[in-house]
Amino acid sequence: QERGTSVYWAQPDNLPTSGIREILDIALQMSGAIRLETGEPNFPPDPAVIDAFYEAARAGHNRYTSSWGILPLREALADKIRSVNHVIRSPEEILVTPGGSPGLFLAFLGTLGAGDQVLVPNPGWPDYLGGIRALHLDPIFYPLPAPQFWPDLSVLEELVTPRTRAIVVNFPGNPAGSIPPRTVIEALVEFAHTHDLWIISDEVYDQIVYTDTVLSPAQLAPERTISVYSFSKTYAMTGWRLGYVALPWPYSESLNRIAMGLWSSVAEPLQYAGLTALKTGSPGITTRLEHYRRRRDLALNLLNSYQIPCHRPDGAFYLLVDISRTGMRSRDFALQLLEQEKVAVAPGSAFGSMTDHYVRISLASSEEDLTQGLTILAQVLQNPI
Ligand code: PLP
Repeated sequence: QERGTSVYWAQPDNLPTSGIREILDIALQMSGAIRLETGEPNFPPDPAVIDAFYEAARAGHNRYTSSWGILPLREALADKIRSVNHVIRSPEEILVTPGGSPGLFLAFLGTLGAGDQVLVPNPGWPDYLGGIRALHLDPIFYPLPAPQFWPDLSVLEELVTPRTRAIVVNFPGNPAGSIPPRTVIEALVEFAHTHDLWIISDEVYDQIVYTDTVLSPAQLAPERTISVYSFSKTYAMTGWRLGYVALPWPYSESLNRIAMGLWSSVAEPLQYAGLTALKTGSPGITTRLEHYRRRRDLALNLLNSYQIPCHRPDGAFYLLVDISRTGMRSRDFALQLLEQEKVAVAPGSAFGSMTDHYVRISLASSEEDLTQGLTILAQVLQNPI
């Protein structure tokens, strides 16, 4: 105790862990488990991207770069943000990061201080909380009520306090894949204006969308939105660790100064590979999207044939399957399903208190695993274990 706060940090219990990880770690030790728990595309990156990485390394691009990232990549990202997200950002407003997660962490670091409150979606991606807790921020969970999983503005108004400084939004969302209509995003942005909040917009699934488009809050409020993007899901490059954030100047410079001390710069050959992905990757994005869409429809039909209710996602690659008929909590159910049937699913509780009667399955798993795993899940739900 005499060493003060360092004792606090020595205790892992003071930091959150992931309920998806728990299942993943057990599944990894089993042979033959059907893995539907993790959101990881079962596709390899495009061959041209792999070639570009090797070529860049052989051509001598193996050094520190500017902490912003190389200019040609940031210029290509500005083009992408203009054409896909319909937001105008200059290369000085775009920072290359080692993945979406560090981009989110950077956004928290750059805009919030100890004791500030940040509104976080429930259900939502569990890993927001690691950074939030480590920075001594106060998460305030706002509900995304089923069946649509859109935010309820009147509840947000009740939750906001003078200490609230930011709201995290994630559309298409993990775990529900929901995309609210324009009016809801407009109301959210209005809410952020009224209470002078940063909008930290997690858009890592921006190109995995089955409907028309997602409205980025940055289209409506570029001056208060930090958009976080990733190559992980769009280009099936989860293990490469490449992402980027877009935010208004001069706050982009603030984030850059923090990034300098965190990772100096992102791996140089990787940045060239990212540039190739942006330039040549469209056909691959379309093909993978068609696979996810087919798997979504296949999974919904399969569950429907067993009369199991399921929300139809408009984006991302997850399904929330209702397990209320078992009367079990989602973690107990997921552990039992894994032990007895060797099917790994993510417990809804991993995403917050609102989804303890769901499990999440990933459509990024192979079609074969998906069909086999879902059939077992459906049969178990018909005759609870
Ligand atoms: N945000 C959401 C909602 C996610 O689901 C994930 C990954 O699962 C991330 C961010 C982080 O992705 P990455 O760090 O691989 O870019």
